[in-house]
Amino acid sequence: MQTQEPQLSVEFFPPKTAEGVEKLRVVRQQLYALKPEFCSVTYGAGGSTQEGTFASVREILSEGAQAASHISCIGATRSSMRQTLETLRHMGVTRLVALRGDLPSGYGVGGEFQFAKDLVTFIRSETGDHFHIEVAAYPEVHPQAKSPAADLKAFANKVQAGANSAITQYFFNADAYFRFMDEVGQLGIQVPVVPGIMPITSSTQLMRFSEACGAEIPRWIRLRLQSFGDDVASIRAFGLDVVTDLCDQLRLFGAPALHFYSMNQSAPTLEICRRLGLV
Ligand code: FAD
Repeated sequence: MQTQEPQLSVEFFPPKTAEGVEKLRVVRQQLYALKPEFCSVTYGAGGSTQEGTFASVREILSEGAQAASHISCIGATRSSMRQTLETLRHMGVTRLVALRGDLPSGYGVGGEFQFAKDLVTFIRSETGDHFHIEVAAYPEVHPQAKSPAADLKAFANKVQAGANSAITQYFFNADAYFRFMDEVGQLGIQVPVVPGIMPITSSTQLMRFSEACGAEIPRWIRLRLQSFGDDVASIRAFGLDVVTDLCDQLRLFGAPALHFYSMNQSAPTLEICRRLGLV
C-alpha cells in the first residue's frame, strides 16, 4: 500500500538548436515546480551528443537543481570513459544513468565495453562511491534479451556490480512492472526500481519510439490513438487519462518514485502531476 508521496524525477534530451536550448530553459523552470529529486539528460549513441548533454547538465546544476548525466559505453574505450568520468566529476556531477546504449546499424559494436554491467563495474573501480549510479530496467523485457530470465539476470548483475537504483523503460501495462518487482524481490534485490513514465502527446511519435525500444502499446490504446487521426486534442486528453491512471496504480503499489520522460515539454508532465495531486 502507498505510504508516502513518491519522489519525482524528469528526463530531458539535449537540444540540437539554439532555439531548442532556449525553449528547454523555460520548460525546466516550469518543471522545477514539481521539486524533482533530479533532472537527467540523455546521451546520444556512441557519445554523439556529449557536448550538448554536458551543456544541459551544467545548466541544471547552475540552476540549483540536482542533475544526472546519462552515459553509454558502447563504442567507448577504457581510456575515453576514464576521461568522460573525470570531466563529469569536475563538473560537480554526482549522479549517473549508466547504460550500454545502442549504436545505429552499420556501426558494429567495437569499443572495450560490452554490457552496461561492465560500465558500472568500471565506474566503481575508477571512482569508488563518488557517483550514485542508476541503471536501466525492462519490465517488458529488453528487445535483444535471450529470454526474460536472462534479462532479469542481466539486471541483477548490474545491481551486483554497484548500481544504487534503476529506472525502467516506459510501459503502459502496470502488471508488467508488478511482475518484474516480484521477480526482483525474489532475487533479494533491494535497490529502488523507479517506473519510467512516458506522457502520450503524439500518436506517430509514440508508435515510432515504442517500435524502436520494445515498449508495448496495448491494443486498446493503439486502436484509440489511431482512431483519433490528426485530432491532437483528443490524443492528448486520452493520453492524460491513460497515463494518470497508470501512475495512480503505480503509486498504490508503492513505486518508490516516478521518472518522467518529458520529451522536453512541461505541460503533459505538469498536468499528470496536477491530477495526481503532486504539484
Ligand atoms: P544492458 O544492461 O547491457 O543490456 C543490453 C542487452 O544485453 C539486454 O538484452 C540484456 O539482457 C543483454 N545482456 C546483458 N548482459 C548480458 C550477458 N552477460 N550475456 C548476454 N546478454 C546480456 N540509450 C542511449 O543511447 N542514451 C540514453 O541516454 C539512454 N537512456 C536510457 C534511460 C533509460 C531509463 C532506459 C530504460 C534506457 C535508456 N537508453 C538510452 C536505451 C538503452 O541504451 C538501450 O535500451 C540499450 O539497448 C540497452 O542498454 P542497457 O544499459 O539496458 O544495456
